[in-house]
Amino acid sequence: MSLDGVYDSQNIFAKIVRGEAPAVRLCEDADTLAFMDVFPQSRGHALVIHRRSTARNLLEAEPETLTSVMSMTQRVARAVRLALNPDGIMISQFNGAPAGQTVFHLHVHIIPRWADQPLGRHGAGMADIEDLKALAAQISARLPA
Ligand code: 5GP
Repeated sequence: MSLDGVYDSQNIFAKIVRGEAPAVRLCEDADTLAFMDVFPQSRGHALVIHRRSTARNLLEAEPETLTSVMSMTQRVARAVRLALNPDGIMISQFNGAPAGQTVFHLHVHIIPRWADQPLGRHGAGMADIEDLKALAAQISARLPA
């Protein structure tokens, strides 16, 4: 898949939004949903998506979509910092397969980083779901009211 293409409503994130596929959810609002990445590149790796936008990537997104997704990204990143005390937080977003995109529903990665830990490989091993639920509970507890 390149930068150009047709939005596939059967993509895994669309299924997660509709509740047709499982996800360890972190938080949500009327426009966006945040959940744990099931193939995390670090402990606490989370994703933020828009619920209704059919943008496949950043280039296709309406400005309002980006505003709501980035606002939720900041909210979750702040909670990740409070919950996990990382040394840094990587915020990333890929456009097109050559850039590393594998799911073609606009999303932003929140990847906590620790100085002494290398970044895990993109899309490598699947996390233990109970571990993800425990991390999500820790992060959710630090979300602003
Ligand atoms: P991309 O490579 O498109 O930027 O990122 C897609 C992300 O989605 C990857 O980090 C991958 O680990 C994650 N991912 C793929 N399938 C699933 C899934 O079924 N559930 C969750 N929670 N994350 C997924």
